[in-house]
Amino acid sequence: MSEAARRLFAQECRFVAGAASLDRLPEAELPEVAFAGRSNVGKSSLINALTGRSALARASNTPGRTRQINFFRLADALMLVDLPGYGYARAPKREIAAWTGLVDSYLRGRAPLRRLMLLIDARHGIKESDRELMKMLDAAAVSYQGVLTKIDKADDLDSMKAEIAAELATHVAAHPTLLATSAVTGAGIEEAREEIAALAETQGLR
Ligand code: GDP
Repeated sequence: MSEAARRLFAQECRFVAGAASLDRLPEAELPEVAFAGRSNVGKSSLINALTGRSALARASNTPGRTRQINFFRLADALMLVDLPGYGYARAPKREIAAWTGLVDSYLRGRAPLRRLMLLIDARHGIKESDRELMKMLDAAAVSYQGVLTKIDKADDLDSMKAEIAAELATHVAAHPTLLATSAVTGAGIEEAREEIAALAETQGLR
């Protein structure tokens, strides 16, 4: 891992705000990297592994916070943005509409958003609900990158990677590099930090 990435992630990361509606978003003052995925994909675990702070994103999974956008400030360099999970099997229509409204407005209106990390469970691959989000990202012209989670549990990681990379390659807004991580073994965490740190650096704010 580069010195810059190591230094960035050694710094303090703290919860700054949770927004359940657009008028509650914090002021946009730092470059942002958002994290999204189906519920249970391992988003909190990944954010915790990246920042090395075990209690951090668990804050996002506490009741009342699971349906809001949570903002974590990493030093004075970057905002990590935890988008609410989606794809609950029995989610009422009203809830899906609320999720879509909130996330779509965030994606379309957030100038400092540099990239969205699209988390995909390495055991399950891309699901219909992920494709719905990819459509929103394509329409909002938000650049995004696939991040496999739980690779320690994958049966056939190579073919899963190939399948997902091939699908992402059909989307212009998708980053060509697919990351593969495990919050349990720590695999791929340094590579993910490297990608994220590069997004902070390009802004010259560090
Ligand atoms: P979230 O709902 O997307 O925030 O998901 P969580 O981070 O809460 O994780 C959901 C479940 O998957 C929990 O039981 C985690 O312990 C488990 N989990 C998360 N990451 C990994 C991983 O890398 N490997 C394995 N084996 N389990 C994981």
